[in-house]
Amino acid sequence: MLKLILLLVSSVCAYQIKTWTWGDFELTSICDLEVKGGSMSQFFLDGPFGDPVPTEILYPELKRIGYTMQDDPVVWTVPINTMYIKNNANGEEYIIDTGLGPNVSRGASEFAGALKSLNISTLDIDYLFLTHAHADHSGGVMQLDYTPLFPNATLVMGRDDYYLFTSEHPDWDDFCCPELLNGDISWVKRALQWYDSPQSQGLILLNASNSFEFNMIDNLMIEMSPGHTTDNHMTIRLTSSDTQRNFYVLGDSFVSGYHMENRTIGCSHDHHRIEAMKTRLEYAQSFDSEDVLFAMHWAFPGTGFFNGTRFNYLNQTEIDFML
Ligand SMILES: [Zn+2]
Repeated sequence: MLKLILLLVSSVCAYQIKTWTWGDFELTSICDLEVKGGSMSQFFLDGPFGDPVPTEILYPELKRIGYTMQDDPVVWTVPINTMYIKNNANGEEYIIDTGLGPNVSRGASEFAGALKSLNISTLDIDYLFLTHAHADHSGGVMQLDYTPLFPNATLVMGRDDYYLFTSEHPDWDDFCCPELLNGDISWVKRALQWYDSPQSQGLILLNASNSFEFNMIDNLMIEMSPGHTTDNHMTIRLTSSDTQRNFYVLGDSFVSGYHMENRTIGCSHDHHRIEAMKTRLEYAQSFDSEDVLFAMHWAFPGTGFFNGTRFNYLNQTEIDFML
């Protein structure tokens, strides 16, 4: 009987979840789902002219930094990661990005189910941070019945991203990843607009001049990392109160760890290729080898570190491994 129960439990808990302690913060990486990447050569584009990078160069590099590669060399498995944070200094709870969500993923999204399996109440989330508004980050803001998944949270995101994705924009079709939404751009728009309604607890829109407002949580800073979407694509920096080391949540500025070493290589989803390249060049120089880096499409659990020349994939549960 016991065996049977254990079997059932392990098959129910199929979610990919990893946790770390970082000073006052307890961090949990949750994989919303994994998708089969299309042609690598169409995704990784080199330099301002966007020349495709050959598969034979990409394949061994992506494998080295932890991606699951299929036999067919153009197919790679790309996770869509999210982050749950418990702040032990003040008892608050945060979410960074929400994955594709139930509508966009056609029901395959595991984010909400994983939160439930961890006994995290979506009603208790104080702040919802969106690194940017692409559908694979904002798709889980709303539930299938058009109610918000985090009704008591204040939404914090980049001002330009918010308005680009909620207004009628002439370049909308190029910018909002319509292939992910099967052309239904109203899903993300409606979710984001709810936070500007009277029922919402709040909406804080940040840009370069007011991102210091997010000093308001000790040891959590928001930085603007332009290029992937607007000038207000966000990076969230968490500093350990014990060691003063930083844990960066990079959103999509570095879509793959491969971008750490090859910063002129962009991705086909960058809105502004030159800006994105500048962000990568500047950021990669500022990382200390003791910083831990996390991004939404890095091989699960989404972490690695960078010693200035080489990116190292980090799949250890214990982050202390590298300290
Ligand atoms: Zn993305």
